[in-house]
This record gives sequence, structure tokens and C-alpha cells, in this order.
Amino acid sequence: MSDNYLRLFPTDRTWLPTSEQADRAVATLRVLAPSAQEIAAEVYGMVTFIDQGANLERIGCPACHAELDLEWWSEQMARRDEHDFVTLDVEAPCCGAATTLDDLVYDWPAGFASVELSVLNPDRSWLSADELNTVAAAVGHPLRQVMAHY
Ligand SMILES: [Zn+2]
Repeated sequence: MSDNYLRLFPTDRTWLPTSEQADRAVATLRVLAPSAQEIAAEVYGMVTFIDQGANLERIGCPACHAELDLEWWSEQMARRDEHDFVTLDVEAPCCGAATTLDDLVYDWPAGFASVELSVLNPDRSWLSADELNTVAAAVGHPLRQVMAHY
């Protein structure tokens, strides 16, 4: 049994909605994904990796586009996680560019946030730009989206 999650999260990784804003966003998502198994706002209160699960195919350097070694990446993630992802700064091993774990090119996308709107088995694909904007207006902050598979 496998599950898909459509995960929406603020573009600012430390931003948190009020409970009213979170409720409004969940209600908006119920309209956009009426057949979803479950829709919830998950408030972590600290920076958390919003991963794509088995949909991770490749991580690229934002500066030189080289493919990054997943072992290098895991090590950087573990090291930053020890400090609750207060800083995400890393030096790219390929070209030495100063970047962050959030700015690496994740394929499929992933990101970092302190809260997410999670849609379990959405029974639909990605939100369109317009739909994403509608949810962003409901929650009060621009959003990004990730499609995770476990
Ligand atoms: Zn590079």
C-alpha cells in the first residue's frame, strides 16, 4: 500500500499561519481536492524538510547544474538537522558555490518550512498556478508545492 501526498508550504521557511488562516487554507483545499483521503495543516514550529519521498530522482547544483552526490547531501542534511536547520548554508562540492540546502535543485521538488498543508491521496495532480494562488490567498502567504510518494 503506497500513499501520495500533495504538500503545500510557505515560501518563507519560518513563516507560520494563525489557526484561522490554516483552517481557511484547509477549507479551500477541500474544494480543490474533494476526493482526498485527508487534508490537514501540520504545524511543526521549526524548520523541517518537506521531502518528496520516493519521487526524489536527482539533486542539482544551482550554480553549475552538476548532479550532486546523494551521500554528500545526506551528510549535509544530518549536520544541519542537528542544529534544527537554523542555517541551511552549504558550499557546493562541485564548483564551491555558496548556496543553501533549500536552493539546491531538487527533482522532483522539495523544500523547507515550519508548517505544511498536507493532502493525503489527493486523487488529482499538482495544483495549477491559479489554484495555488487561491490557497495562498486563503492562508495569507505565497506557497510552494511538493508531490510526495511513500
Ligand atoms: Zn556546482
